[in-house]
Amino acid sequence: MDKHYHEAACLCGKVRLKIHKLSGQFIVCHCDTCKKWNGGPQFAMPCGTGVEVQGIEYLSEFPSSPWAKRGFCRNCGTHLYYKLNQSGNYNVLLGVLGLDKKVKLEMSMQYFIDYKPDCYSFDNNCPVMTEAEVLEKFSSSN
Ligand SMILES: [Zn+2]
Ligand SMILES: [Zn+2]
Repeated sequence: MDKHYHEAACLCGKVRLKIHKLSGQFIVCHCDTCKKWNGGPQFAMPCGTGVEVQGIEYLSEFPSSPWAKRGFCRNCGTHLYYKLNQSGNYNVLLGVLGLDKKVKLEMSMQYFIDYKPDCYSFDNNCPVMTEAEVLEKFSSSN
């Protein structure tokens, strides 16, 4: 295969990701787990299963819920992705992708909007879902 992928890396460069498909759309999550893990809301791009991870000796995955794991570099601490157990789909963190000037990015959804604190808000015109709506959506797709 020729170079039809996007390369991304953690801060120290030990863990590298090859991402085969970039949608340009990213999802914000305001849930308590994302806020704690990221120090703020999570920005992540759904990338499907077409993600290759190199440097796995430096990768740790934390099972943050029964349905997903969160991957990070154990050398520099960079948070890399949120990965769903059942589908194997990766949601790569937007900051890690480093796409700002390369691809037009669109905020396509804000999950757990009822967990967003009052101290910040985004004025992007994009749909939002409450906890109840998110749980409904994912329980019906199983
Ligand atoms: Zn690193
Ligand atoms: Zn979340």
